[in-house]
Order: sequence, then C-alpha cells, then structure tokens
Amino acid sequence: MLKIYNSFSSKIEDFEPFDPPVVKIFICGPTLYDYTHLGHARIFLTYDLLCRFLKTRGYKTDVLVNMTDINQSVFNKAIVQGIDYHTLSQFYSNEFIKDLDLLNIKTIARFAHVSDYVKNISKHISSLIEKRNAYSANGNIYFDTKTIKDYGKLSKQSRKQLNLHRMDIGPNKKNQEDFMLWNCSEDFGFSWKGDFGKGVPWWHIQDSSVVIENFGLHYDVHGGADELAYPHHEAHLAQYKAMTDLETPVKIWMHVSLVLSKGEKISKSRGNVVLARDLVTKYGQNLLRLYLFSTHYRKEIDYNEKNLLRNKSFLKKIQQTSLRASHKTSEDISALIQEFYASLGNDLNSPKALNFLEKICTKALKNSNISIEDFTRIMDTLGLRI
Ligand SMILES: [Zn+2]
Repeated sequence: MLKIYNSFSSKIEDFEPFDPPVVKIFICGPTLYDYTHLGHARIFLTYDLLCRFLKTRGYKTDVLVNMTDINQSVFNKAIVQGIDYHTLSQFYSNEFIKDLDLLNIKTIARFAHVSDYVKNISKHISSLIEKRNAYSANGNIYFDTKTIKDYGKLSKQSRKQLNLHRMDIGPNKKNQEDFMLWNCSEDFGFSWKGDFGKGVPWWHIQDSSVVIENFGLHYDVHGGADELAYPHHEAHLAQYKAMTDLETPVKIWMHVSLVLSKGEKISKSRGNVVLARDLVTKYGQNLLRLYLFSTHYRKEIDYNEKNLLRNKSFLKKIQQTSLRASHKTSEDISALIQEFYASLGNDLNSPKALNFLEKICTKALKNSNISIEDFTRIMDTLGLRI
C-alpha cells in the first residue's frame, strides 16, 4: 500500500493509520506576514500529492493546517504598517488560500488560525504546569524538557548537543534546552490575557493546542519543512506526549526538503525570493508540479528556470496523449500504470512515477492504448489539469 520514511525512526515504514480509512495529517502552516514562496509551495504540493495518492488506495484524508498569526514577524510588520496584527494576518491568510487555489491544492480540510485558540492554549499550559511538565521563571512559562523521555530523538541530538543551543533565553530556567510556552514580555505591542498574566503564547505550544483541539489524542502524519525538526517539532512532540500521556501520539514524521534559490535558502534579505503565484502565472501549475515532483521530496531543489522549462516537452507529450486516450488500456500500458502507482507507494517516489508516466505516453503515442479513465486517474493523482 504505502511505505513512508519516518524521520522519528529514520526508517521507511509500512503506513497504517490509527483509524482507517481516515488519515489525519497536520501540516505546519504559513506565518501570515508574507506571500507564499516556492519553498512553501513545494511543501503543500507534496502533501497534496500524498493525499491524492492515498485517495486512490481507498483512504479518506483529513488535513489540518495551522495559520500562524501570533508571531513576532507578524507583529513587527503590523507595527511598521501602523495596523492591527489581525488586519495584516487576515490579508495574508486570504492570499495564502488564493495561492493554494492557483496551485490546484484541494486537499486541505481545515485551516486553524492560532488567535482563535488562545483560550485553549492558556488552558493547556495550565495543565502542563499542574502535571509538572512546565514551570514559571520570572513570569515566563517554560517546558521542562527533562520530564520527557527521548527528548532529542526526532532531531537526532544527544542531551549534550541539545544543551549547546541557546534556547529561549531567560533568567532562572531549569535546563538550557527548555523552551518557552508563554512569553510575559509586553514589548511586542500585542499581548493576550492568560491564566498566568498578560503575554504572548509562544510558537510551539500553538501547534500542540491547535492539533489536540482538532484531532484529539493522536494523528497519523505530521508534515512540514525538514528545517523545522528542531526546535519546533521536537518541542511539539514533547508537549503533545505530555498532554496525551501517550508515548507515540504521532505515527509518521514526514519532512520535506528545502527549495534553494541561487544556491541559498529563499529569504527576502538575500533577495532571492521566488513567489509561487508568479511562477504559476508565468508557466502554469502543471509545469510547476512536473518540475517539483521530478525531485524526490526528501532531496533539496536548487531552483533554476532552465530546469523548470525542461519539463515543457514532457507536458506537451502528456497533452498529446490525452488526445489519443481511447476506451481501453492495452496490457503493456496496464503494467506501466501499476509501476506508476507502486512508485508513489514507495515513499512517494514521484520522480520514478514520472518516468513511468513518460513511458506510458511514449507507448500510447505509438501503437498502444490508454483508456480515458486510466489517463484521467493518473492526471488526478498528480493534480495535473490537462
Ligand atoms: Zn508548526
């Protein structure tokens, strides 16, 4: 069915959801202060492909994305523009949804804006304090990482290595690697009322609260960029384990690798930002999908327009094949279609699947046949609109 690489065990595992046929997937969503760039697009397209594939195997997916509107970058930009953080984040939230639409991503069922969850976050922090997983230090609340077995396993770090990070610095922390749950500083220009005074619910606890309110005590896949493994995902897992009293509340940690631009991480300060909407407008989402899926999701991509355009002839071949699709599929093509799906089932090996699709097209354009039904199913799986 599906084998998938689990970053937690560092192994390719047989995937079996907690409550089949439903597969619950949480994806770390956007911070709402800017437009979607190519790196973000790759992440959401990867899980869109996963969901489309799972659907062909009889699963039903339930995808939850958290929308980070409580964040220092959001506050800073709102202050510069002289507007409320909420006005700013709402604008970028709408733009993000527009980008998903441009990218033909239809598989996300729930969007959760963090600011709608502050009461829940406060409640969960209180119960973590009660359980002695969290403590107050000079008004800030921290998570005591020593209370969690295996802390560091997801990001593959020993206690010694964890101790080297200068994590959420503040006075009277118990351990260097303890991370913040609630920041009592009033320097941000925006703050909320919690059970433990005014402040800002900090990054990692936002996800854990959103996920437990939506999915309950467990879910199947946690997704996001691989650079989020530490501290973000490590912290989320520690909190979620403490909140649920479960050793394995998440089955699979599935991380997508970065998209570089001009050899470097995409960022405004480097001046190498490539916006998803610009690429879709210029080249179409079909070409963008073929380009991104031609590299395995666990490998980095160094974006380059020439490489993107190289997929044009392949796209043309697919379009020609669609015109040749008939009422039946010949045996040789049937075998290749099976290989196409088997490749996706093997740790979502999209480059291999695309190789099989190319072979299918070559044969169909010579003297073999592919049915409209089979052809359409492949297009739907890849999210191509031909
Ligand atoms: Zn997250």
